[in-house]
Amino acid sequence: MLKVTKSEEPKHNLPCEKFLTPRKLYLPLSQHTGKPSKICVNLQDTVERGQAIAVEDGFISSRLHAPEKAKIIDICEWYHPVLKKAKCIVMEPIEEQEHKFTPREKVNNLDKEALLKIITDNGIVGMGGAAFPTHVKLSPPKKIETLIINGCECEPYLNSDSRLMTEKLDEIFKGVEVICRIIEPKEVIFAVEDNKTEAIKKLHLVFSIKKYKLPNLTLKILKTAYPQGGEKQLIYFLKNRKVPAGGLPLDVGCLVHNVATCFAIYEAVYFDKPLIERLVTFAGDALAQPKNIWVKIGTPIYELFDKGILRFKNEPRKIICGGPMMGIALDNLNYPVLKGTGGFLFLSENYSLGEEGPCIRCGSCVRECPMSLMPTLIDLAARNENWQLAAIYGSADCIECGICSYVCPTRRWLVQSIKQAKIKTPK
Ligand code: SF4
Ligand code: SF4
Repeated sequence: MLKVTKSEEPKHNLPCEKFLTPRKLYLPLSQHTGKPSKICVNLQDTVERGQAIAVEDGFISSRLHAPEKAKIIDICEWYHPVLKKAKCIVMEPIEEQEHKFTPREKVNNLDKEALLKIITDNGIVGMGGAAFPTHVKLSPPKKIETLIINGCECEPYLNSDSRLMTEKLDEIFKGVEVICRIIEPKEVIFAVEDNKTEAIKKLHLVFSIKKYKLPNLTLKILKTAYPQGGEKQLIYFLKNRKVPAGGLPLDVGCLVHNVATCFAIYEAVYFDKPLIERLVTFAGDALAQPKNIWVKIGTPIYELFDKGILRFKNEPRKIICGGPMMGIALDNLNYPVLKGTGGFLFLSENYSLGEEGPCIRCGSCVRECPMSLMPTLIDLAARNENWQLAAIYGSADCIECGICSYVCPTRRWLVQSIKQAKIKTPK
């Protein structure tokens, strides 16, 4: 085990609130890695809560469900944090009360294929940010030796995963059991950073009672550092194995799943509940009170302010979807919560003052990149929309840590254009 060093618990590690029904929901068809979902409803249709409104388009794609009983009122281009604008299903909820999903019977009798089908049908994607379809990740072409459960959440400010571990640890472990039934690893490592003190107390309790049927389960408490939560970094820290350039964790016998994804798998398998809501951190010094809130997928941020759930203390000069390092700057409050959205930051200062300047070839981004990439070259290829060249320079290996943008003296928007390249590169 790595050395345990106690760091400060995030100040807004408060119990979660729930935001029920927004007036409108905006659900982009592109909210996962891979091909956008295909619409399977029509304008003016009334859909039930949890009903599929768009289905997978190919294997690397995901299903999308109605977060509420609602009427489809529009299909249009709408704000999207990564793509800026994207095709979106707009719905008007018509029921205010919370609908409960019925527990599934005989979960223990389900075989691998049945579990995978449930995960596919319920539109589960990785919730740590990349939103890779989970059914694809759980169908590896090679044997997985080590399953790593990622509770690191290393970005400053964000702590929805930490809170989820504090409040829903039993459910997370049941999700991990499901994963183990599908991929049958030899060992499970639960990794968490040492600043998540409340979650760690709960984890020690779970480990002491040995309640779950998991092979060679170990807890690794890592020193808080950035970018510890990247899956390639985690594999290196925990197993001393390097994922090859252009490769995947499965190339070194590992699979990494975020704790929120494990929770979503639990809900899908035990309740047949699709991924229609998630826990989101709202933080930053411009807010009167930072919060962790359960929000329906597709909820535009302005709804939380209009309904008084969130309040500004200062005028926000910078809004970020995600954390300060990997997040994307937003220009208004119309952007919706997506399946991969862990948080929004509202900052009183615009820390990236000024316009971006030209590359002065200082090499800082190249020196500091933890994946040994040349961000400046990928950025140039992406700006020329030469996605193939960006791929040759290794855009797929970028873990989107944001360090290159952070160190760039001319404030080039490197990580944003590399993200674009990753999305646009033909698979
Ligand atoms: S965001 Fe930049 S520094 Fe981080 S891995 Fe990608 S290219 Fe490297
Ligand atoms: S850090 Fe910025 S200025 Fe320096 S090489 Fe990279 S992109 Fe160019």
